[in-house]
Amino acid sequence: MERLDAIFSPESVAVLGASTTPGKVGHDIFQNILKGGYNGTLYPVNPRAKSIQCIKAYPSLLDIPDPVDLAMIILPPNIALEAVKDCVEKGVKGIVIVSAGFKEVGGEGLEIENRIVELCHKAGIRIVGPNCLGVINPHKDIRLNASFSARMPHEGNISFISQSGALCTAVLDFAADRGFGFSKFISIGNKADVDELDLLRYLHEDLHTEVILIYMEELKRGGKDFIDVAKEITSGERPTPILVIKSGRTTAGAQAAASHTGSLAGTEGLYDAIFDEGGIIRVDSVVELFDYANAFASKKFPTGNKIAIVTNAGGPGIVATDVTVTSGLELAKFDEETVEVLASHLPPTANLHNPVDVIGDAAQDRYENALNAVIRDENVHGALVILTPQSMTNAIGTAEVIVKIAKQTPKPIVCCFMGIVDVSAGVKHLQENNIPVFKFPESAARALGKLYTATRWLNRQRLAQFELKHDKKCAAGIIKSCLEKGQTYLGEFEGLDLLKCYGFHTLPTRLAENESQAVAIAKEMGYPVVMKIMSSQILHKSDAGGVKVGLKDENEVRAAYSKIIENAKNYNPDAGIDGILIQEVAPSGREVILGMNRYPDHGPLVMFGLGGVFVELFKDVVFRLAPIGRNNARRMVRSIKSFPLLNGFRGKPITDLEALHKHLVSLSHLVIDHPEIKELDINPLLVHPEGKGATVADVRIILVEPDSKS
Ligand code: ADP
Ligand code: MG
Repeated sequence: MERLDAIFSPESVAVLGASTTPGKVGHDIFQNILKGGYNGTLYPVNPRAKSIQCIKAYPSLLDIPDPVDLAMIILPPNIALEAVKDCVEKGVKGIVIVSAGFKEVGGEGLEIENRIVELCHKAGIRIVGPNCLGVINPHKDIRLNASFSARMPHEGNISFISQSGALCTAVLDFAADRGFGFSKFISIGNKADVDELDLLRYLHEDLHTEVILIYMEELKRGGKDFIDVAKEITSGERPTPILVIKSGRTTAGAQAAASHTGSLAGTEGLYDAIFDEGGIIRVDSVVELFDYANAFASKKFPTGNKIAIVTNAGGPGIVATDVTVTSGLELAKFDEETVEVLASHLPPTANLHNPVDVIGDAAQDRYENALNAVIRDENVHGALVILTPQSMTNAIGTAEVIVKIAKQTPKPIVCCFMGIVDVSAGVKHLQENNIPVFKFPESAARALGKLYTATRWLNRQRLAQFELKHDKKCAAGIIKSCLEKGQTYLGEFEGLDLLKCYGFHTLPTRLAENESQAVAIAKEMGYPVVMKIMSSQILHKSDAGGVKVGLKDENEVRAAYSKIIENAKNYNPDAGIDGILIQEVAPSGREVILGMNRYPDHGPLVMFGLGGVFVELFKDVVFRLAPIGRNNARRMVRSIKSFPLLNGFRGKPITDLEALHKHLVSLSHLVIDHPEIKELDINPLLVHPEGKGATVADVRIILVEPDSKS
């Protein structure tokens, strides 16, 4: 922690590779620190220059007479390595390596990077970069702009971590336009040492940081560690929202997948899982990142989802209403008293209900009266004020009354001042007073929706964990005996037994090797029955015409037997057929899918979603890293689009959600306990009405062959 302080708040900085030639990085970074008004002591290091920008230069770091906290290294890799050795000898506390040509080019570059990391590890020096844009700390006591960017941002409460250097400069430019202030600004480059996780921990301790933004390409250290830290930050003692824009492909790609879970998860599923569980808000574009940062930086969150809209134009009010509703918010229904107050201040043509229309000729007094009335209403948790420039509009006056009212209420007020030129003075006044302001009603409504997402995360339900008993030994035995036979694909025949060990309810299922056996088994089991092809080469049985449900008598069983064999042979003439499974018909229920797939460095990823034969079509699925507890299971189930189908949609029975949550938790235990399970799909699990549990109607498990187990 202390060592990262040396990077962000150093008392002295040496620039190794400071240059006299304008346009060179070594020149510009030195100049940016100098012109940024750095409060500490700055030393240029250059063996060939007497001075840089009129400041005495030192031939080497070791010639500087005083201690140096931070060394900025702007040198080609082989020289950088020598410079790092000097840093160790000098006892610097932190290093930022701006130059490129390291790990990202491979070969010698990679070797040098590894060597540098090793040297610094031993010496306890932290490194940011290489291949990065630098770091910025605009705090008035520090004012360090050790970066490529000539622009020193304002001081503020937003910290930004970026894996892309180029994006950083663009972001600073946008930020200047929108009046954003920053606490820390870090370009992390190759993350040879300091990565997102270190920075999140550091920023969480930093009292000046109240919103964290991350531009991420891939996580160096993901999995549960990252989730735990994120969760603590977003919902621990001093909750700090984290907004992430994630792009690019990752090296943590899913292994070749034979299961639904594998094909659906991809790497996006993995990241969604990590973000969801950590309470991190994922955004889709840089624009959104800014819009939400703007709203979150004001630090006011709605306690509920009912909002009021005050507008001087009908159209934008309707647009805002639409987006409000799709963003998880609702328009508040006002108290009678509020409506009366509105009536007393607004013209007869005004709309006194949500969205409140103060009419195009409104000056600031109408806005003031209307906003005052609605924000006081108990049924209102936040407000959205829309202003379009019309002839009577007073943008600056309106901004002033909004600021005045905002100061007196804990409820968030977000604004949409439509336009650029005519509203600019008003926009500026709002920005200066930390009132979120947007150009379009959609963005304003969406941002308000995200604020409410944060409230919901903070107030999420935390139920006591389930007490579950599993027969781990029995499961291990089944796995061992399959692997001993060289069998890595488990269909229902062995798979159901394995699931039983973890408390799943399964159906009596037996194998018939010929038609007369099938008839005999069906008779014993009792009609109707289900028949399914059993072949390790046919993974999706119904695709091969290999499933017949609801066979009512001997004749139907006989006919089904020959038909299924015929279909299977047509589907895959080379498939080895073990016979046909005869299974009881499951009691009716909603079909859901439970699955698992493994990711190197992250662990098993559990999937839940709408099941049946259309899983890949609707892709209504959600992921979490195992193990999961009851609350995560519950949140997974509630987060799919089809959740209403499980929860009594249109008079249909409510399903046994608690049983479903238990099964998800158990499944996560199963895959943690048995690393030999590489992939698994239960599809469908039939969830019965409340109190009646759930039944597995199909399972497919892939084991890792012992020699390839990592
Ligand atoms: P597939 O290999 O094609 O996934 P399944 O065993 O899942 O084969 O069967 C396909 C569909 O048949 C299931 O999604 C389910 O709707 C239905 N089904 C399968 N087994 C049963 C059963 N025992 N009782 C009732 N319906 C079943
Ligand atoms: Mg199936």
